This record gives sequence, C-alpha cells and structure tokens, in this order.
Amino acid sequence: MDFSEALASLNSSQRECVLSKDNTLQILAGPGSGKTRVLTMRVAHLVLEKKIEPHRIIVVTFTTKAAGEMRKRLVQLIGEKRTSALLIGTFHAICSRLLHRHPAYAGLDPNFTICEPDQSKLIIAEIQKDRNIQINDFTRHTMEAGAVLGIISQAKSKGIDATEFFETYRDDFKRKDVAKIYFAYEEELKRQNLVDFDNLLLKTCVLLSNKEDILWNIKSILVDEYQDTNIVQYNLIKLMMRQKNDKTITIVGDPDQSIFGWRSAEPKNFGKMADEFAGTTVMKLERNYRSTALVIESALHVITQDHSRVSKTLYTNNPRGVPMSLVSVQNSAAEAGFVAAEIKKAVKNSKGLIQYKDIVVLMRMNFISREFESVFRLNKIPFTMVGGDRFFNRVEVKDMTSYLSFAYNPKDVTAFNRIINVPKRGVGQVTLDKILDVNLEYKDSLLDTIEKIIKRKTTTTFTPAVIIKLKDFFNICQHIRAMIDDKNSVASILSYIYTATEYEKFLKEKHAQDWQSRWENLGELLSIAKKAHEATVELHEYEKYHDKSDVDDTTLVEPVYSDEDGSGEDSEVLDLTSVGPEIKTDPTMKREFENVKTEDQSFNPKEFGLRDDLKEDNTRDEYANIDTDPIAEFLEYCALCSSQKELDEAEEGKVTIATIHAAKGLEWPCVFIVTCNEGVIPHSRSEDIDEEGRLLYVAMTRSKSPKSRDVWGNKRSQDVSCFLRNMGSGLYTDQPITWNANTRALLAETLNKPIPDESHQTTPAKNVDIRFGAAGIDIDFKSMGGFSSAANLKRKPDKPNKKTAVVKSE
Ligand code: ATP
Ligand code: MG
Repeated sequence: MDFSEALASLNSSQRECVLSKDNTLQILAGPGSGKTRVLTMRVAHLVLEKKIEPHRIIVVTFTTKAAGEMRKRLVQLIGEKRTSALLIGTFHAICSRLLHRHPAYAGLDPNFTICEPDQSKLIIAEIQKDRNIQINDFTRHTMEAGAVLGIISQAKSKGIDATEFFETYRDDFKRKDVAKIYFAYEEELKRQNLVDFDNLLLKTCVLLSNKEDILWNIKSILVDEYQDTNIVQYNLIKLMMRQKNDKTITIVGDPDQSIFGWRSAEPKNFGKMADEFAGTTVMKLERNYRSTALVIESALHVITQDHSRVSKTLYTNNPRGVPMSLVSVQNSAAEAGFVAAEIKKAVKNSKGLIQYKDIVVLMRMNFISREFESVFRLNKIPFTMVGGDRFFNRVEVKDMTSYLSFAYNPKDVTAFNRIINVPKRGVGQVTLDKILDVNLEYKDSLLDTIEKIIKRKTTTTFTPAVIIKLKDFFNICQHIRAMIDDKNSVASILSYIYTATEYEKFLKEKHAQDWQSRWENLGELLSIAKKAHEATVELHEYEKYHDKSDVDDTTLVEPVYSDEDGSGEDSEVLDLTSVGPEIKTDPTMKREFENVKTEDQSFNPKEFGLRDDLKEDNTRDEYANIDTDPIAEFLEYCALCSSQKELDEAEEGKVTIATIHAAKGLEWPCVFIVTCNEGVIPHSRSEDIDEEGRLLYVAMTRSKSPKSRDVWGNKRSQDVSCFLRNMGSGLYTDQPITWNANTRALLAETLNKPIPDESHQTTPAKNVDIRFGAAGIDIDFKSMGGFSSAANLKRKPDKPNKKTAVVKSE
C-alpha cells in the first residue's frame, strides 16, 4: 500500500492528525484508536510531502520490537532507503548511539561499554561487601543488591544524583547508607568505564547541553507511548527540541495506559509539554479499530473505576461479538491445564482461523509463567517467552561476548572476573584480589596492569606459575584488541575467541550433557553479529548525514531525495559502502565457521538494499572521517537485548507468554489474561490501585477479537480481581468458548477473514489430552458440560503412576 492509499484508509480525525501543520502536536487517544498507525503515517507525510530529509527525523518507540514493526511499515510507505536513514529506536538505543559518537562531551572515555542491570547488581554487591554496608528493609531483612539498585535507579530516573540523594536523605537511617553506595557505585562505573541504563539517558542530557550543535539540524521528533516517559526522557526531548524554531514534535499517548509509574513515568508530562512548548495543539481519536464492542465495554468497566481520571470517549463500530469468558479454577496447575486445553481446542477447531502465533497469555508478573511453561512443554504447545532465558544471558554467549567486551574496554572488572578462568586457568581468588589491588594502585586498565605483572614491573610479586597463566590470557586479549584496531568484523573476532580459548573443548568437558546445544548457540551468536550489523546500518546512515559538526561543511554533500520521475524511487542513492563489514582477517587464525569466512570476504551491497554498482566506488565516501564503530554497536546490541523485558522479534508459529507491561502497544486475535486475582491484580503491594486498573485495561485492550478471550482467577471465584466484579452479566460468560460453525463465522467476521468451509464436517475434537508435570490433578468436565464450576476441580493426593489428566469438554 502506498502513502496515498494508506492515507485514504484513515478516518477523517486520523487524517487530520497525520497532515496537521502544527509544530507541537499531542495526539491523545485510547487503545486501538490508531495512534501508532497515525504516528507512522505522519513520519511518511513529513518525508514525502513536507520534504524533510529522513536523517533529520527522530522516532522514539517504547520497545525495540515496536521500532522494528514501525520500520517494516515505513519501508512500505517511503521505501527502504529513506527508512534506513531515519533514527528510530528506544530512548536507550538512540542515546547510546549519540554517546558513542561524542563520548568526551559527556565526560566519558571512548570505548565505554554498557553496564546491564545484572552487572550493576554485582558491582553494588561488591561495594557492600568491601565497605561492609548492610541495609535492612522494612521487614528487617537484609536488602539484596538488586533492591538497593532499584532505589538508586529510581532516584536516577527522576534526575536525582548521588549528592542530591544524600542531601535529601541525610537524616534517613536507611537511605543515608544507600547514598553511600550510590556514590561508590557511580565512582565504580567511571573507573570501569561503564555506562548503566539510567546513565545512558543522563549522560546524553549532559552531552546535548555541552555540545549544542549536535542536533541542530534535527527537524522533527516523534514519540510513541508518551504517557510512559519519565522526567529524564522529557528533559531529553526538550533538549533535542532546543534551538531552531522550525522544529516539529508529535507525541502520541494515552494517560489511561500509563503503567510505568513504578519506573517514574510521569503522565503529567502531557501537561508539562503543553505548558512549556508554545502553541501545543491537542488532537483526539475516539474510534477503536482493534476490538469488538463487548471488549471495549468491558475494558471501560475497568478503567472508569478510577474516578480521578479525565474521562474520554472511546467507541467502536466493530461487531458486538460474543461475551468474554471469565472462568474460575481451583489452582494454578488447573489454570495452566485449562489454558493449554483451550489453546489446543482453538487451534484444532477454528479451521485455521486461529494459529499458535495468534495467541497470547498475559500475566501480571513473570513468575506466574512457570506453570504454563511446564504444561505447554509437556503438551507440545510451542511458545515464546518474554524475559525468560534470554539468549544474551546464556552462560556460553555471555562468556564469549565478555571477552570481546573486556578487550574493547579493559577497565571492566566484571567482564575480567568472568573470563579470567574461562577456560579453566586456575587463577585463584587470592591471586585475583592481588591483581585488582595492583590495578587500584596503578589506576590503569586491567590489561595494562597484567602486562606490568607479566613483565615483573610491579612491586607486588607473582609466582612464575601465575605469570604463565596470565600470559595466556593477556595474549588472547591483545590479539582481540589488534583485530579490533585492524577493523576485523565482529563475527571474525568472535570466531577467533572461540578458537583461541578452545571453548568447544571447554564446553565438552564442563557440560558433557548439552555441550552441543551450547555450541550451536555460539553459531547463532555469529549470525546475530552479522544481523546486528544490518540492524544498525540505518543508524550509521543517520549519523553520517546528520552530525555535521565534525565535518568540513564545504565537502559535505547532503543526500537528495527526489522522486522526479514519479517512480517512487529516489533518484539519488545513498552510499553505504563505508559501513559494510571490513575484510581484513588474520590469516593465521584457525577458521571453524566457514560461513563467517564467506561473509567476511565479500560484502554484498544488495544484502543491505544497495545498488551493487556502488561497491567499488570508495571515492564517493565523503564521510570517511566519521568513523563508525561496529564493535561498540554490537556490544550495545547485546547489552540492550539481554536486559529488555520485552518481546523478541516475532517467533513464527508460537504462543506468546508475556507480562502485561511487555504487551503494551501490541495486539493478538486471541488473548488469555491469567491469574486475575485479588492480590495479584491489583497487586497486594502496589501503592497505586489506579495503575493496577490501567494495567488490566491495557491487557484487555490487546485483543483483536473477543471470541477467545478468557479472563479468570485461579482461586475461588470470590477472589477474582475487584476490577472485574459487578461487570454487567451480558458482557461475559463463565463458560469457555464452544467451538461450532457459528463461533467460526463470528470469528471470521471479526478477524476479517473468509468464513471457513463447513461442508466437510470434520468431527471436532471431543477430548483434549493435557499432561501435567506433577502427578495428581484430575479434571473431569464430562459431567459439567463446560467449565462452569470450580468446585468440580479437585486436587487429588499424589498417585505414583498417574502423570496425566484428561480434560473432556464439549
Ligand atoms: P495502543 O494504544 O494499544 O498502542 P494504538 O492507538 O496505537 O493502540 P494502533 O495499534 O495504531 O492503535 O491501531 C490498532 C489497530 O487498528 C491496528 O490493527 C491498526 O492497523 C487498526 N487501525 C487503525 N486505524 C485504522 C483505520 N482507519 N482503518 C482500519 N484499521 C485501522
Ligand atoms: Mg500504539
């Protein structure tokens, strides 16, 4: 669909938003009203009709997945080349990129690396141990490093630095100690040349304040999910908007979906923006396109329980649909079994209308997923998890990326501790402590310290046996550094690390059971190294053209986007040759991954959506003086991916299990919201009941169709979430879906798909066998003719050989 067709498909209010001439525009609207669609279209409008060059446009999304989806949509609207020149990403990704370009202006050393929350926790634990600081929580239990980090991070996300924190809490017994740790933690980050997630944003604020010209030619900023921006992010937006008057900003959001208050999101940023940005225009969208009337009505029942909320209209012209199901079951095992059975029935009986990929299971908290994972696994229901065993957190992946990370930033103590004994070198704790002490004494990088130790230049002495072990480690790291300096590709460097550390042998010895799958993961890491490169190409492009501050203006040639021949193609093609993988490789290196070799040796511009006649044309590279740093980008990619509590790229053919927070902005034809109990949602420890209600509202409005929506609690029915009580009886049923021709016809209508052919009467599955991991759950619905009464579900005493339970329904 091209831009004009897409524009024609919008309703008049949406179109008005897309085409608005206002420089400061807020679009405030409910779920499923097309905010993200409008924002995407507005980007296309700015590029195609307002002729703003794409490299002058920043689009902020809340998750990496959302950025990817928006990019895909924009490729259809404005073409691949223009899309790749836009700077689209989360605040963190955008900030990381800017900081790597200008570290000095943010007070950072070049070669800084990102400190993930897990690493932050280790640093804090170490500080507590070293300084013997223990903090007790309100139950007088010692607070874990993670909880201390939480307090520090919360302060940072409000822009409160260690000094201010100390001043504020100087008389607070507990927080005074947290302040000490906060100070020490910041010092450690600096010493180890690390930037944590909060500092990515804070340091970028410093950068933008110190080097005003960085963003001087930014013309437009667009922000999705604005209700969840915090004060620091707001300040960033303000800084980016500074200077020139002709900049435009478009934000879209929904205060009713503000669910990150616990992470210091400030819905009042809407009002703040209206106050601080001259001439802010507020536009509204009221029609929901996503869900059916019943879902909207039920969701409104939940959200309107917040009496402090500013009321707004949300309606839909979609069919009313069948009532949602609100089903109570006895316990969490029965709940997982019920969902598994319903999923199997839906996939089996919907005649192709619902597949595994169309289904999501949403929950308030991560840990609830355990029961579902095990029942799904046993029943061969393919699923993908959010924040589960994340690829970049796997031991083998982390070991190998830590080598790269340490060689890049040899001040990183955590990375050093992780890899010094990988493979086993037998460097004991006492020796390690001694090395770290020497390092503190010399105040240089750990690699420089080790070199001094090897050359016996330190006052502290080490045994010859230790020196031999350190030499091996030092040589590998030095070699990696040389490869980085020689601009070898990330994949070839990783490949060297695998070989030099004899990691395959190490895996075989250490993990005899599953070494193969771990080794395969490392093969996957190599392909990711290449993909990550592709994913960042567009950001390179943006920077090459955008950041003119380092470039001699007279030699700068701006890319021209014109479509004079009306073909929809640009007449000027961007030259991306300078960002292709470098081809220098180490000839002595043993190559185990043949595919890497091929990739390294020939850069195929077509893979990057480029014309191949540009391949040899290096003379066109006017921007050669702006060096790109693929290692930094790859490490950034690993760090951001390993810590995101968000969905991975769509895993085809799988049911999604996700927290409600991670599902924000997304939609599925079939939604299960599980464990909707008092104490869970609203959470017993939540300080903001209204935010809990908004959370349920977000969950309910993910549904593209009401037919297979099930909401239930896993205890007795009186424990069902207070938000769901007193809902009009016509809105829901306490029965699960009955699969028949009528249901399929309704489903087809809502999903806008052809009604399945019913002429061949296949006998729908009467029985669905569901297996449980633990013995002893018997579910027999035969007598109930449905799933109506929790009382009929009984947990039986464990029986030795009874491992399955049969759910019979319909
Ligand atoms: P959320 O608040 O959940 O982020 P949103 O307001 O961003 O929702 P979108 O995701 O943009 O809403 O749109 C919701 C669904 O409605 C999408 O499937 C979108 O394609 C569809 N949609 C939006 N506008 C229209 C329209 N004018 N015609 C048809 N479908 C539309
Ligand atoms: Mg959206």
